[in-house]
Amino acid sequence: MVDDLEICNIDIQSYLLLKDGVKPVVRVGLGRSRVDGAKEVAKKLGLEVIVKEFKHLYGGELPETKINAYYSLDKNLCRKALDAENGGDRKKFGLILGYPECCIDSFIKNLSLGVDYFLISNRNTTAKPSFFCNNLFVFDSKISGEQESNIFQKNASIFDSMNIKRSFLIRHVPCSFDCNDSIEIGKKTLRLLKRHSPDLAGKIVDALKKPVLYWNYFEWIVLNGSAERRVLVYDSILGFESLIGNDIKKMVLSGNKVKIMDDNLSIFRGSEKIGDIPVKNGLPLCIDFQ
Ligand SMILES: [Zn+2]
Repeated sequence: MVDDLEICNIDIQSYLLLKDGVKPVVRVGLGRSRVDGAKEVAKKLGLEVIVKEFKHLYGGELPETKINAYYSLDKNLCRKALDAENGGDRKKFGLILGYPECCIDSFIKNLSLGVDYFLISNRNTTAKPSFFCNNLFVFDSKISGEQESNIFQKNASIFDSMNIKRSFLIRHVPCSFDCNDSIEIGKKTLRLLKRHSPDLAGKIVDALKKPVLYWNYFEWIVLNGSAERRVLVYDSILGFESLIGNDIKKMVLSGNKVKIMDDNLSIFRGSEKIGDIPVKNGLPLCIDFQ
C-alpha cells in the first residue's frame, strides 16, 4: 500500500484520516507524468479523485502550470474542494481539508505579512507546547515566498527526504502549539497510525516529542534531552539535518547542557563552558515539545 500511496503522492497520515472519515479531502500536487497512474491507483484504494490543471491560483499567475489532485471518499467533496480552491476561497478550502477554523483564520490573517508561521504558533501558545502540534518538519503550507521555495528546492535532498517529511501528526499550520482542535486531530492521527503501522508511529513520536532550538524554517537543532525552565540537558542531537551552520552544530554536539539567557545561549559540558550562541531578535528560541 505504501507504494500505491507514493504513486498518488498521499502521505500515510492523510490517507488514514481520509479512510476513517476524519478528513473529507486530501489535496496534493502531481507531476504530469503521474496523473494517469494516480487515477488508476486511487480507484484501487477506494478513493474518488478529480485532477485539475491551474495556471492561476489565489488571484495570481503561477510561475508554472500546477496540477492538483483532490482525493476523497465522495466525489462531490472533491468537486467542492476544487471549486473552493479555484475560487480562491481559502477559508472554505481549509474547512474541506478538515483543518480547524481557528487555525485557518490565523493562517489567513498572517498570510500577507510574510511572517514565520512557526514563530506565530509559538507566540500564540499559552499552555505547554504539545508535540501533536509540532509541525517543524512540514514545509508545504508554511513556505510561500519565492525565496523560501528556492531554499527548499535547493535542499530538497534534506527537507524532502522521507525521514523528515513523514514526521508529523498534523499537516496544517496550527494557530498555536496548544490548539485543542489541532491536538485532537494529532491524537486521531496517532491512534490510526499505531493501529496501522506501530513502528512508524513510534518513530514519529520520537521525532516530535523533543526540545528544539529554532532559528527559522530551515535552521534548527532537535535535541535528545529535556528542558526545565532555562536549562536544557541533552545527550545528543537528533539525526535530522537542517541548514544550521557547522560551527554552531559542532559546539552543541560537544556539550550536554544549554543555559538559556535573554541575549545568548551558553553551551556547557558538565560544569565547563564550551561557548555562547548569540540570541538575535529572540532567536534561537527553545521550544520544548515533550
Ligand atoms: Zn487552532
